[in-house]
Amino acid sequence: MARLVMKFGGTSVADIERIRHVANRVKREVDDGHQVAVVVSAMAGTTDNLVNLARQASAMHDAREYDVVVSAGEQISAGLLALALQNLDVPARSWLGWQIPVSTSAVHGSARILDIDGSLLEERLGEGQVAVIAGFQGLAPDNRIATLGRGGSDTSAVALAAAIGADRCDIFTDVEGVFTTDPRIVAQARKLDKITYEEMLEMASQGAKVLQTRSVELAMVHNVRVQVLSSFEDKPGTLVCDEGEIVEQEVVSGIAYSKDEAKITLTRVADRPGVAASIFGSLADANVNVDMIVQNISEDGAATDITFTVGRGDLERTAKILTDVRDGIAYAQLVTDSNVAKVSVIGVGMRSHAGVAQRMFSALAEKGINIQVISTSEIKVSVLIAAEYTELAVRALHTAYGLDAA
Ligand code: ADP
Ligand code: ASP
Ligand code: MG
Repeated sequence: MARLVMKFGGTSVADIERIRHVANRVKREVDDGHQVAVVVSAMAGTTDNLVNLARQASAMHDAREYDVVVSAGEQISAGLLALALQNLDVPARSWLGWQIPVSTSAVHGSARILDIDGSLLEERLGEGQVAVIAGFQGLAPDNRIATLGRGGSDTSAVALAAAIGADRCDIFTDVEGVFTTDPRIVAQARKLDKITYEEMLEMASQGAKVLQTRSVELAMVHNVRVQVLSSFEDKPGTLVCDEGEIVEQEVVSGIAYSKDEAKITLTRVADRPGVAASIFGSLADANVNVDMIVQNISEDGAATDITFTVGRGDLERTAKILTDVRDGIAYAQLVTDSNVAKVSVIGVGMRSHAGVAQRMFSALAEKGINIQVISTSEIKVSVLIAAEYTELAVRALHTAYGLDAA
């Protein structure tokens, strides 16, 4: 007997027929004698609708009320799946975040899970009851509902698996696993049988939304065996695991892209100590995440330009903050551009192979794509390019690194 966490995303619970299908999939595990905790997302499209409604009601919304609205979708799918399971004579009940409870940090809208008290759940699992848990939500210190950021049900599932000591955490979605790149834009993308936690972490944080970044971090820290697989087809998926479990490692395992980027340039910023600290300090204070940063040495020793990127949704806020602190920083101009995308190549093999970045730059040059900003880590190279070339760039790189399916 094993203890399993099974997570189903939005398209997997999109309508009653899909929910019945999921109930049957869960029943299979129960019939095999396993204890099962299921985590569900909202039905496809629901969260987007709720986000829009909250924005229409109030553009500068109170994040606590935003959370009350957008967390509602998961409540519906959890209740419906519990009903569908009961209909198959499988004992089941739904659990909302506060009922478990899942305790989170205070940052409404993108809270982090701090603790899950699994005791009540484990008691019920021991009695043979299936727990159907609303993902994406928890209880903040102010005793109010908090949500975990878009795609957060993945994190609910992994955190729960760690809390109840599950043997496996299966993430069921609308593709067969983790691919070399988004299979929806590159038909030649290949499914990976295995991927390391580190690579998956980079893929997710560079834009591959198949798993929420935070869920991979948690899986890595708590050593949770995560498998990504299709809820539509009965096929083996992708196992996210330690490097040691992978026999043949490619130099580059995947390519990710993100269109959720905006570029900001401050021209003629004073070239003296403390300036970068005050620019990025004021953004950090406002919880703005800064990603790529470039600064050149100044020609005249007096002033230089600084370019950096933030999430597209943070652009207006960032521009306002920098305008407010302009006197302290003394830049000449603030130039913004949201017509950009970030494309990244990822692979642990880069640590021991030279020429990976060069191959990327050549492949982009061959397509006439201009590189605006470059950033690297030990296992990744990212470039910022004009948004309209995203798909072209991803396809060209996929071919250049020999990742195309035969
Ligand atoms: P769910 O609703 O099940 O959580 P998501 O839409 O959040 O599903 O994530 C699955 C989607 O992630 C896929 O439909 C696919 O388009 C996208 N995706 C992006 N990069 C990858 C990748 N490298 N491998 C697999 N899927 C990817
Ligand atoms: N329903 C939430 C979202 O759409 C959480 C999730 O699906 O993981 O972002
Ligand atoms: Mg998702």
